[in-house]
Amino acid sequence: MRSPFVRCVPCLFVLGLLLSPIATGSAFADNEPRFDPPPRLAITAAELAKRKNSPEFPALRKEAVAQGDALLKNPITLPTGSGDWTFYYACPDHGVDLQAKNLDEHVCPICKKVYTTERIKAAYRTRLHDRANIAAMELGWAYAYTGDDRYAREAQRILLKFADDYPGYPPRHDRWGRTGIFAHLGGRRYAQSLDEAVGVINLCKGYDLTRTSKVWTDAQREHVEKDLFRPIADTLLFANLGINNHQTWFNAGLMCIASVLGDKALVEKVLTMKGGFRYQVEKSMGDNGFWYEGSMAYHNYALQAMLDIIDAGRRMGIPLHEDPRIKAMILAPLRYAYPNGTFPAINDSDSGHISSFNGSFEWAWKLYGDPRFARAIAQGNEARLKELLGSDAKGGPAIDTTSANLPDAGLIALRRGSGPNATCVMVDYGEHGGGHGHFDKLNIVVYANGREWLLDPGRLTYSHKEYKTWVKETAAHNTVTLGGETQSKTTGKALWFQPQDQYAACATQTDLAYPGSVLTRYLLLADNILIDVYDVAADKPTQIDWVAHAISEKLQPVENLGPGMTASPGERNGYQHLTEGKSWTVTKPTQWDFVSATPDKAKLRMWIAGPSQETLFTCKGIGHYINMLVPCLVRRVQGQQAQFVAVYDLSGRGDYVTSVEVPPGDGLQVKVGTTGGAWSVAFTKTGVKCTPPTK
Ligand SMILES: [Zn+2]
Ligand SMILES: [Zn+2]
Repeated sequence: MRSPFVRCVPCLFVLGLLLSPIATGSAFADNEPRFDPPPRLAITAAELAKRKNSPEFPALRKEAVAQGDALLKNPITLPTGSGDWTFYYACPDHGVDLQAKNLDEHVCPICKKVYTTERIKAAYRTRLHDRANIAAMELGWAYAYTGDDRYAREAQRILLKFADDYPGYPPRHDRWGRTGIFAHLGGRRYAQSLDEAVGVINLCKGYDLTRTSKVWTDAQREHVEKDLFRPIADTLLFANLGINNHQTWFNAGLMCIASVLGDKALVEKVLTMKGGFRYQVEKSMGDNGFWYEGSMAYHNYALQAMLDIIDAGRRMGIPLHEDPRIKAMILAPLRYAYPNGTFPAINDSDSGHISSFNGSFEWAWKLYGDPRFARAIAQGNEARLKELLGSDAKGGPAIDTTSANLPDAGLIALRRGSGPNATCVMVDYGEHGGGHGHFDKLNIVVYANGREWLLDPGRLTYSHKEYKTWVKETAAHNTVTLGGETQSKTTGKALWFQPQDQYAACATQTDLAYPGSVLTRYLLLADNILIDVYDVAADKPTQIDWVAHAISEKLQPVENLGPGMTASPGERNGYQHLTEGKSWTVTKPTQWDFVSATPDKAKLRMWIAGPSQETLFTCKGIGHYINMLVPCLVRRVQGQQAQFVAVYDLSGRGDYVTSVEVPPGDGLQVKVGTTGGAWSVAFTKTGVKCTPPTK
């Protein structure tokens, strides 16, 4: 739950500091680590020889030489002293990065104010440290591809400088000014161990690639190993964050250090300790391979470190990639994405795209040879797919087209069709998602007509106050609130999941989002329709609100209901962001159109029924950006129980569904007339009885 850009709660980890790593038997089974002559971390001698004979090599070499030459021509400035948090390098008034006049004077490009404080100078040194790490690796590749000792000598300059300086950096400190055991996230060269870990990976690779050059003496090699890499390992072993993604990076840094030092015991520790590689594979994800934080942004962040660990390991002869959860972790984005490749912004995430995983897909394609990865890389480009899979390659969507229950992600994804007509509905029922979770049990997102309709706003940015006052609140989601309150943090459950030929259906439930009250949501997705029955049994009479936010220009009733009253659905728990409110009280089923702003003026028509009387509000909430207003429908019932029926016409034109009937007495039955025939659906706690149209 702690990312580099999130301030976190320190006290959670104090206990972690006191726990020493626990070794649980041999890490290696049949594969003891092997330390071949270098290079053996960034690449092996055999891989390097193969690469030099590959058709891509001239281009790779040219690029590496260009980078190496630039670093020889303008050698980078090596900082003397440790760094502070990189985000401190900004003008407090304008929030923009400063520009360095020299090491001591830093100018805001907007107000031209010159900053000379120690904290800003230290944050600037962090930038220089970061550049040096990357330079060491780039010089390493230039040397590996050319054998030109000038590149090795410049990489050596960087490594020796840090080896000279590391023992003299201040003891453990963090960006809040704490030191020693209180700086549990802190570092020495940097103000956080996360930066130490990310940085040392590149330094290790630069060393691995150049240390066989004749520019290195044995004494210099020993200096770098003993005075730089070993103390960084100690820094990274100081605190243990368990399943957390920072720990994944610590593990990656430690594994790279173990490789260059040829330290078998350290390899074993990284693989077996609490929070180590195997522990995280067991506890930070499940068999679906979804990282526990429930967000593709954090999934990707943890995956990058995992791949560094695995590469270091397999080059020591330990086939860490053979754990099926690793492959599942790289397939996960394809199971989580909408049909167009974007991700729903569930929990603290953004509407990213599967292409942000391209590097991992390439990596997995080389290692596993599974055509799903080739399709993910090609993303519909037939020529590229033939390049990868051969001339008789069949295309096909990279994104999963089958419905799936994904308990690690806490989601069920209902899917129909492929190509431009594909539809996808996800219901978020499971794991809260640690500190990055939202109070959104039984929230749904809906994709149809080539776009996202019902959305989760995601995280906006952490610096907006709406991060706390809107995005996490239940009212910002497409689910139910009771008493106008936000839900409690909890894990719900899937009652059943039935993927069939003509439809896919599921039921999900929570009895702890509002302790004592049971919320159950039944969904059935078929071609062009989504049937949604939300059953509420509250522990006492209260205000029951059913909420739907859809990306569109406007929300309007299909029938003329009159002008409505100006009314706000609430003042707190996120409701304060629901503006332009109007309300109607209705005693019969109604139909509503979310009308898209796109030139096609596509419609998401919603037929709503169920309660004998409900108060309806239209209003506008906040979407994926702070200025993105999104129309919202709130259905309100006062009482102890309610069954909200909604049938979504997914044709994009609003003309597919022709009638919706809820037989009296039991809201769990729905009859839907469509231009393709009549559907009769009865949901129960154990499944669905469904009569699709006969053809
Ligand atoms: Zn300024
Ligand atoms: Zn959310």
